Amino acid sequence: MNYYSLNHNSPRVNFAEAALRGQAPDKGLYFPEHIPQLHKSFIENIKSFSKEEIGFAIMKPYVGETITDVDLQHIINETINFDFPLLKITDNISALELFHGPTLAFKDVGARFMSRCLGYFNRHAYHKTTVLVATSGDTGGAVANGFLGVDGVDVIILYPSGKVSKIQELQLTTLGQNITALEVSGTFDDCQAMVKQAFMDNDLNQKINLTSANSINVARWLPQQLYYFFAYQQWQEDEAPIISVPSGNFGNICAGILAHISGLPVKHFIAACNANDVVPQYLQTEQYSPKPAIATISNAMDVGNPSNFIRVLELFNNQFSSLKNKMSSISVDDATTSQTIKDVYQQHHYTLDPHGAVAYYALENYLQTNSGKGFILETAHPVKFSDTVEDAIGISIEFPEQVQHLLSAEKKSIFMQADFNNFKEWLMNR
Ligand SMILES: *Cc1c(COP(=O)(O)O)cnc(C)c1O
Repeated sequence: MNYYSLNHNSPRVNFAEAALRGQAPDKGLYFPEHIPQLHKSFIENIKSFSKEEIGFAIMKPYVGETITDVDLQHIINETINFDFPLLKITDNISALELFHGPTLAFKDVGARFMSRCLGYFNRHAYHKTTVLVATSGDTGGAVANGFLGVDGVDVIILYPSGKVSKIQELQLTTLGQNITALEVSGTFDDCQAMVKQAFMDNDLNQKINLTSANSINVARWLPQQLYYFFAYQQWQEDEAPIISVPSGNFGNICAGILAHISGLPVKHFIAACNANDVVPQYLQTEQYSPKPAIATISNAMDVGNPSNFIRVLELFNNQFSSLKNKMSSISVDDATTSQTIKDVYQQHHYTLDPHGAVAYYALENYLQTNSGKGFILETAHPVKFSDTVEDAIGISIEFPEQVQHLLSAEKKSIFMQADFNNFKEWLMNR
């Protein structure tokens, strides 16, 4: 399998090169040359396969010969070594819980797969690779955890001091080993700007082999298909599900659509957005107008110009009418999101996180005028956003087992002003 750039001005590359580059030289996103088609019997017999077998069957065509079968199976087994339960909330709405991984968010799947692939492709490299990531909360934890202990790779995470939740900060700052946390006195945008400038700096790039762990990387995007298949294994209804995905950069829903085009039965997709409504607006008006991001309580979706949306368009051959047939989108405000957390807790004894709540409301709303049954992707554990959730339901949430150890771990971060020259000097002299 080769990958082309969606800007159509760069050579085609294999999976290894696409994963190592992240973005094509013409700044386009990489896209697979063709979409593998699954045998009907694979879907019909899906319940008889293990998660690991499904993982291999789905990923093998995308990876091609760039990773040996034995190593690919090993990478997949490590990527998905936790549960993906589909739980009924009401008769018509279930939740696919994607927060049972080490950092309690769905990003663990993409980050674990990508980190192991990069470790594999770099295994004979003489120079260490340094991964730089700026995070507003969830991404940094998943990436850092994914790369923890991977040979030949150092990870430096920049996070805005005082602007991530308590658990998120502990997840970033207590890992040690090859992971270093820089606590920047500034905003997420400051962190992002420092990282971007580092990638363009000649001195730094001559001395250090810098890489990004960006969410547009094919090695993060493609494995996100897997849990859509795991959900279908657990789906009990005759009719295909309606799937509601809380969306920010649209990588997650784009992976689901890719799985569907490969043969996974899905009746309809709902892209559930917060106040950042570029895509809901686009579906109404056919005008795509990016805007600055607006801060909300579902902050991992505060994106004003979703980077993966161009892949969604490509999946529908840029045909607006086919996209509109298969996917709806709605913008849900913060008050409605909080109210949904409260209502679902009181009526169904299920605790949603703010992102899952946006998806829940979107699906419930859709089912008022459309028939069918569906599920939401519950993308993070509610404890990661405990302030918001506890405000809504009025009781405190227990720390799940995966993060109990964090409470007694020691925070280690390096404090830094939001100043590029400072950052550069520190990187040059490490
Ligand atoms: C990143 C994130 C999202 C948004 O996912 P995209 O792939 O960017 O659309 C939703 N929920 C949570 C909890 C996240 O961390």
